[in-house]
Amino acid sequence: MIIEKLEVGPFASNCYVVGDESSNAGMIIDPGAEAKTILQKVNDFKLEIKRIVLTHGHMDHVGALKEVKEATGAQVAIHVDDADSLQSRDPLSMMFRLSLKAPPPADILLKGGDSVDIGNLRFLVLHTPGHTAGGICLLGEGVVFTGDTLFNFGIGRFDMPGGNGHQLLNNIHTKLMVLPDSTTVYPGHGPATTIGTERNWNPFLREQSP
Ligand SMILES: [Zn+2]
Ligand SMILES: [Zn+2]
Repeated sequence: MIIEKLEVGPFASNCYVVGDESSNAGMIIDPGAEAKTILQKVNDFKLEIKRIVLTHGHMDHVGALKEVKEATGAQVAIHVDDADSLQSRDPLSMMFRLSLKAPPPADILLKGGDSVDIGNLRFLVLHTPGHTAGGICLLGEGVVFTGDTLFNFGIGRFDMPGGNGHQLLNNIHTKLMVLPDSTTVYPGHGPATTIGTERNWNPFLREQSP
C-alpha cells in the first residue's frame, strides 16, 4: 500500500494520497489545500484516483476539494451527517475569516460500517462523531486514518458546532482502542503514531482509565 502524507495549508492539515500498487487505483483523503502539490503526488505514483474521502467537513480538510475533484474526476465521499458542511459556511472558516472556494457537494454519503474499495484495498468506515457529527475514521489493513478524532498525544477539539467531548472519547475508546497496538494511526494533523502508543501515553485517554 502506498501512503503519502502531505502537510497542507495554514492549519497544517494532513492530506493522504493512498494507492494500491497492484492496480494503480488510488484515493485522496482530506484535500485540505494546495491542490497542485496533491495532484503532483498523484502523478508521481501514476495513480488513478477512484475516491476522494473526507474524514469530516471542516474547511481545513476540504479546501482543495473542488480543484482536486475537477482534476481527477473522482467521486467525493463524506459521512451523511457532515454532508451539509460542504454546502454551508464552515465555522472554522468563519472564525478565521478565510475565503473558501465553495466545495462541490458529495457524490457518496457514507455511514458507519460501509466500505471504500480502492483496487484491491478495502477500507472500513468507522463513524466516530464528537469532533463533528459526521466524523469518520478509515480502517485499512494495519492502518487507520483518524482525521481530527485522534492525534498523536491528542484528540480533536469538541467546542465547535456538532462537537461533543464525551461522545468523542467514547468513540475513541470503543472504536479505535479496540484495534491492535501495532495499528498505524494517520491523523488529520501532526505525526503518525500507533494505537499502542496512544493507548499508553495519550494524556486524554489516560485520564479516563480506571
Ligand atoms: Zn476538524
Ligand atoms: Zn483539522
